[in-house]
Amino acid sequence: MSGSMMDMPLTISSLIKHAAQYHPETEVVSAELDGSVQTSNWKTVELRSGQIASALTKLGVTSGQRVATIAMNNMRHLELYFGISGAGFVCHTINPRLFPEQLIYIVNHAEDEVVFFEAPFLPLIAKLHVKMPNVKYFVLMGPKNEEQAAAVPGLMFYDELIKTGYEGYVWPDLDERHPSSLCYTSGTTGNPKGVQYTHRSTVLHSLTVIAPDSCSISARDSMLVVVPMFHVNAWGLPYASAITGAKLVLPGFKLDGDSLLEIIHDQAVSFAAGVPTIWAGLLSSLAASDKGVGALNRTIVGGAACPPSMMAIFRDQYGVDVIHGWGMTETSPIGTINQPLKKHENLSKEQMATLRTHQGRPPYGVQLQLVDDDGFVITDPQKQGALQIRGHWIVDHYFGQEQSALENGWFDTGDIATIDQDGFMTICDRAKDVIKSGGEWISSVELEGIAVSHPDVSDAAAIGVPHPQWDERPVLLVKAAEDASPDEADILTYFTDKVAKWQIPDRVIVVEDMVRNATGKIPKQDLRKKYAGLLSD
Ligand code: AMP
Repeated sequence: MSGSMMDMPLTISSLIKHAAQYHPETEVVSAELDGSVQTSNWKTVELRSGQIASALTKLGVTSGQRVATIAMNNMRHLELYFGISGAGFVCHTINPRLFPEQLIYIVNHAEDEVVFFEAPFLPLIAKLHVKMPNVKYFVLMGPKNEEQAAAVPGLMFYDELIKTGYEGYVWPDLDERHPSSLCYTSGTTGNPKGVQYTHRSTVLHSLTVIAPDSCSISARDSMLVVVPMFHVNAWGLPYASAITGAKLVLPGFKLDGDSLLEIIHDQAVSFAAGVPTIWAGLLSSLAASDKGVGALNRTIVGGAACPPSMMAIFRDQYGVDVIHGWGMTETSPIGTINQPLKKHENLSKEQMATLRTHQGRPPYGVQLQLVDDDGFVITDPQKQGALQIRGHWIVDHYFGQEQSALENGWFDTGDIATIDQDGFMTICDRAKDVIKSGGEWISSVELEGIAVSHPDVSDAAAIGVPHPQWDERPVLLVKAAEDASPDEADILTYFTDKVAKWQIPDRVIVVEDMVRNATGKIPKQDLRKKYAGLLSD
């Protein structure tokens, strides 16, 4: 007789049910728009998620339909995360800082039935709603307000809508391959593309996020999620906190260094997740205060390369371990995580510091490979190549597209990388940002990492600028650190001995501001256009 095991679907409702049952009193905290700090717990989050799921069902939303959110990280957004997906609808998170045309495109392409949004985005919705004919309901995520109601015909309010939902809502049984959420890529060229995650991919990804060689999250953690919930499901951390029963702290709109430092102390945060630019703000506030980091002992940094100098400050001055992670919208996002191996125990401090700057190794569930221009797999650890990935939580087809997103079963990430003998992957560049000088490649990521370690520089972008002799040459744009005036010659000298001579930028230009998008990336295509003629003569 053959034996068998139970077959229970891996669903998002199972995560929130677990948190409510086994960690009912554990706090979930949210910085609200009115400046207050709202404290709830996992039991209440499950109850209210069920209520909003029920309210949406009553509105007529049906299985698999998209319900959008345009919001920062806060309690109502969390309730929507679990409520929408748990009910079998698709939680379509939208980046509020998109250009209006892209936002309209995304809402229409996804055929969103309902759009939830926060009050600061009311002027945007008031202007754009007429261009979103498929949307049946716009819901402002707050209490009822007559003045706001006048801005959009038929506007609904979250705090009223949730009351129409049933408190005893029972989560439906779903197939684990049912879609759960949808996120569009940043789309620097062409239209944004939608990546639709499933319950199964999300739960498997969450199990990876919490593992010891990943973010090592437990019920004893207080987790501050700064990475936006509108970008790749906040790296899966809301689900990871439910699966472990960790305390979850959502910072709302308050992402400046001082506010983050305050919430880190007030909520005894032990683990935090964010992109390097946000952490740069936190580090300046830390430097200006004698408070220290409190209980914070580790942070995951990704979305863009974490400058080695930033890692060193966190580690040496504050005792905070920086876990470098790499991923993208198409990869849920964890593709690699940097944690040392047993054999690295006796590395010197400097060797360990270098090891931790790499983007890391793939966890179980994903595989990586590098290919050359002819599509042949590269095994030489010294050679760069196009980074490809496959696994349980990697995109297969973009939303609404017939053709596969894969080549021979692998997804091409658009990143150029190396992979060493131990499987540690290092991002050299985005393929389109790599600087091609005289047939050789120069990593803009490496130049930027060096530039921001200069005390006079707070942010940097290296771009390839057309050159009559070398095809392209690197030009470095820098933003001054507070009270500093960077000097071109001094910065160029700083590169000596840090990179090969031919990799040293031709010019350094000090810019007033370094524009970064909401996910921490510099739109380099705009900079390349702006400085295209700089080296022509
Ligand atoms: P997105 O889909 O908007 O999250 O962007 C994904 C891209 O961000 C990747 O393909 C990389 O180019 C970049 N990226 C993400 N994490 C890192 C990292 N740790 N180091 C360098 N680049 C990164």
